[in-house]
Amino acid sequence: MAVPLLDLRAQYAAIREEARAAFDRVADSQQLILGPEVEAFEREAAAYCGCRHALGCTSGTDAILMALMAAGVGPGDEVILPSFTFFATAGSVARLCAKPVFCDSDPLSLNLDVTLLHKLVTPRTRAIMPVHLYGQCVDMDPIFLFAREHKLAVIEDAAQAIGAEYKGRRAGSMGEAGCLSFYPTKNLGGFGDGGMVTCQDDALAQRLRMIRVHGSRKRYYHEIIGGNFRMDAIQGAILRIKLRRLDDWTAARQRNAARYNRLFQEAGVSMNGAEAAEFAVQCRKGVCTVENSGKLLLPMECAGGDRIALRTGEAPFAGHRHVYNQYIIRTGRREAVMAALKAAQVGFEIYYPVPLHEQECFKECGCRAGQLPVSECAARCSLALPIYPELAEAQQDEVVAALLHGLRGK
Ligand SMILES: *Cc1c(COP(=O)(O)O)cnc(C)c1O
Repeated sequence: MAVPLLDLRAQYAAIREEARAAFDRVADSQQLILGPEVEAFEREAAAYCGCRHALGCTSGTDAILMALMAAGVGPGDEVILPSFTFFATAGSVARLCAKPVFCDSDPLSLNLDVTLLHKLVTPRTRAIMPVHLYGQCVDMDPIFLFAREHKLAVIEDAAQAIGAEYKGRRAGSMGEAGCLSFYPTKNLGGFGDGGMVTCQDDALAQRLRMIRVHGSRKRYYHEIIGGNFRMDAIQGAILRIKLRRLDDWTAARQRNAARYNRLFQEAGVSMNGAEAAEFAVQCRKGVCTVENSGKLLLPMECAGGDRIALRTGEAPFAGHRHVYNQYIIRTGRREAVMAALKAAQVGFEIYYPVPLHEQECFKECGCRAGQLPVSECAARCSLALPIYPELAEAQQDEVVAALLHGLRGK
């Protein structure tokens, strides 16, 4: 039995009747862009994320662009962001003729390494954009301390992390603005592209609202430069249906993650706490002990400071919520593991094979291969396994069996 990386058809089967009623409602109304469906979704999503304001837009990429535009980021400005993330985080900065300044990641969480920020700040730095990678929040308190000290805006790339929590606060509710994506592979996926900008400040919300429609408050009168970033009504209608189920789906993702961790531990193929700690020390120095050990590094839950644990049951820390958009293992035997998964028809993906500071288009950003060892090691070792909510235990057992087969070289 083949196991896909993600099974969107299984998810659709669960909402089919409601979704079809929503299609009809939108089609009959012929209110196709923004309108009551989007407004209702915005109210519900704002409440869910603990934000005063939420604006539906065209994609997660555009949400980032809008947030940067609203923050006034432009030519000559610098924005500190991780190298180990999806392209859009840095691409949006470059599109505004500002410079992405790439920061290395923490070896265990793979989120922005907050201890490196002081080395990257210059008089031109305008903002920091932490990315809550794979569905786990960045350690935000040190970022806010640093941002306050240097008068920087904090824009959260929460594209993979709707519903994730840091010290009881939800992703997207902490910085000046938060950016969500409803791309179909995200935990809350639409019927095509969609995104959202969240914020707490009324004036900023007003500015974002203008930016969404070519910078105008009154039609054909343009106070600032904006774009067409409007969300389609069908996305609002579908996302409202899915939002009501999101907590159940997240709980299923967390159960799947805990079960993978247990199975790999029982098989004796995962690094223990001491080995993981040693890995973290060495990885920062450019020595990847995962590559040399033959053992897996399982995804860690990092709740800030040195509070680090492996999920094997309920959440290991109060107020910390990892929503597992991806379940990422790291292995030095990735080629063999991928070959075994492929032979067993198990889906997998590499997020991300090339860190952004090594991308052709960012050659001029002044950061070279070899300078961000943790990002480079992650690009060589990480592998995403199926974690979607509908994944059955028997399917998960198949994934584990195939992976162990590849890992042990049998
Ligand atoms: C998906 C994603 C985006 C972009 O979202 P789209 O809706 O695909 O434009 C931005 N940042 C991160 C970290 C993402 O995972």
